[in-house]
Amino acid sequence: MLQSFRIVLIPQCSCCGTAVTGDDSKELLVTERFLAPDLQKRLTAAGWEISPGDRKVNRGPTDPIGGDSLRCPACVAQAKRAADRFRARLAAPRVKTVDMTDRLGEGWKLVQRVGDADTKTWLVEYKGSVRGLVRRYKRVDGTWSTGWEALLAGEAGFVRHDATAAGSWSDRSSFLWSSRDLAAWGIAHQPSFHAPNPAWAGRSKRRK
Ligand SMILES: [Zn+2]
Repeated sequence: MLQSFRIVLIPQCSCCGTAVTGDDSKELLVTERFLAPDLQKRLTAAGWEISPGDRKVNRGPTDPIGGDSLRCPACVAQAKRAADRFRARLAAPRVKTVDMTDRLGEGWKLVQRVGDADTKTWLVEYKGSVRGLVRRYKRVDGTWSTGWEALLAGEAGFVRHDATAAGSWSDRSSFLWSSRDLAAWGIAHQPSFHAPNPAWAGRSKRRK
């Protein structure tokens, strides 16, 4: 039996909510979260970015998980500028390099750019490409913790990588590592939460 109502969707930018419009410049109405091929073609030509959804997880028009994901031209341009700025900052001249082959493996280095020493920050590089960053944690009151943060390099910025149980600075903090090199190890190997510390780090943990 047919329903007396059907659900209508308006495709929009997943960042800013700008709606997709039709030829009449009114908001476009569709009935499912997967865009028709000709509409995809038109949007791509107009500078929209479409990340294809997964039809296997599609559970109807109200399912927020499956379905295509869209970004409008303005948000695409903004993301590209942010990525360019991020890369430019990463490419700043190096003033100090520590070879980490013994602890992290062949090709791994810790490097500091101008100014990084002041913020107790090290880039974690693998064969010349930045994989992440580790830094002493600065508390809200401006004092330095002895714990270290590990941040993975993404496309346009860094995202925090939590400490393992064995490598954490204290049992009460989920994100601080107990040493710089353990934090760098977290970037290099992205160990699971229950992974044991590497042999060089020992088993003991500072109690706070
Ligand atoms: Zn947008």
